[in-house]
Amino acid sequence: MVGDKTIEKMKLNRFNNCENWFCPVCAWKKTRKNALKISSLMQYLKEDEEKEFLFLTLTASNVKAEELEDEIEHYNQSFQRLTQRKAVKQADKGYVRKLE
Ligand SMILES: [Zn+2]
Repeated sequence: MVGDKTIEKMKLNRFNNCENWFCPVCAWKKTRKNALKISSLMQYLKEDEEKEFLFLTLTASNVKAEELEDEIEHYNQSFQRLTQRKAVKQADKGYVRKLE
């Protein structure tokens, strides 16, 4: 027999990941969950706030595993500098950022 506590735990764990960083199933679940959140947020901003969206993709060359941490740090600093530019500040009312 399954007690209430176990059911609650199952509900909580249903969307939890298996803690394997490279698990494709968990990555897919997380992506789907985020996409749903972002899509309802975008719908609200478009309809109720009458905001427009810009989609920006920034790419960089691949780096070796041991250089990845520095590269991410460099990327974050560069992105921060971009958001501080006057033209960007004037147009930008917020953003969603994803690093892959
Ligand atoms: Zn998993």
